[in-house]
Amino acid sequence: MDIIVVKPEATDEEIRHIIKKLEGLGLAVQVSKGTEVTVLGVIGDTSKITEETDDAFRAIPCVESVMRILKPYKLASREFRKTPTVIKIGETTVGGKRICVIAGPCSVENETMMLETAKQVKKAGASFLRGGAFKPRTSPYSFQGLGEEGLKYLEASRRKTGLPIVTELMDPRDIEVVEKYADVIQIGARNMQNFRLLLEVGQSRKPVLLKRGLSATIKEWLMSAEYIMSRGNHNVIMCERGIRTFETSTRNTLDLSAVPVLKKLTHLPVIVDPSHGVGVLEHIPAMARAAVAAGADGLIIEVHPNPEEALSDGDQSLRPEMFKKLMKELAPVARAVGREI
Ligand code: PEP
Ligand code: MN
Repeated sequence: MDIIVVKPEATDEEIRHIIKKLEGLGLAVQVSKGTEVTVLGVIGDTSKITEETDDAFRAIPCVESVMRILKPYKLASREFRKTPTVIKIGETTVGGKRICVIAGPCSVENETMMLETAKQVKKAGASFLRGGAFKPRTSPYSFQGLGEEGLKYLEASRRKTGLPIVTELMDPRDIEVVEKYADVIQIGARNMQNFRLLLEVGQSRKPVLLKRGLSATIKEWLMSAEYIMSRGNHNVIMCERGIRTFETSTRNTLDLSAVPVLKKLTHLPVIVDPSHGVGVLEHIPAMARAAVAAGADGLIIEVHPNPEEALSDGDQSLRPEMFKKLMKELAPVARAVGREI
């Protein structure tokens, strides 16, 4: 066995009893207490555990199921959960029939531009507002984000528009402040394998948007999702944002094949970031449309009211009119693949 799913009404005493039994077999246990299910991950050499032992565990009244999962990622795998995960965030969902569109500037720069962007993207039909207050910049001399002040501007924008907020967390020391304002916590590409950070957000009750690392394989990326899920947070959104290749015509190479591949391997929602994935303004709409056609559950797109004055990623930020046009173009593509926007 690899996973034991415990019934929601199981008491701590009953769970301790199962753990003791497993420890008696020389195995260790990772308890993942989610909001809907509690899962016991079995750690150690399970190859010698017989079918009979699995059955004995199945006979324990509080045990819902005992599963063998061949993939190294367990909770994230389709073997663990056959149906797609739909994450409910406020009034909206990620992973359902409706394509979610997360839009907003790369960085939160001031209150006026944030409110302006929020109003514009809401009017165009976006379902979430994005904006970084803690920015992972390549140069230490570049704008690093406004920190909590930026989070306050995001909060003000949410109050005005009702749009839930997606914002990045870079350091476990900032989790309290980011959790206080964010509806979804973003883990950036550069931190995809920051395992301490992953474990930290694994203990949060806020959904996590996990970007693919710059040179991470799909398997490594799923293992990072597993880190988060192993701590009880089962609400992870996978975000393809382009990978490093030899190609220089685009900022990154957007790996759209990751969408169908992930859909087969995991039940988690998959979204695409064509802004960082392509990094060339004029090609972003085409890749956004292609992502929806490929089966993505959503998009995250950089929009700035005045890109030439942006403090980061201005060259890849859509103006509000361009975003509005794109939203209109996405509707028939979504319909063609049985979705809505
Ligand atoms: C961002 O979303 O602004 C960002 C920094 O993205 P990534 O981590 O994918 O580079
Ligand atoms: Mn950016």
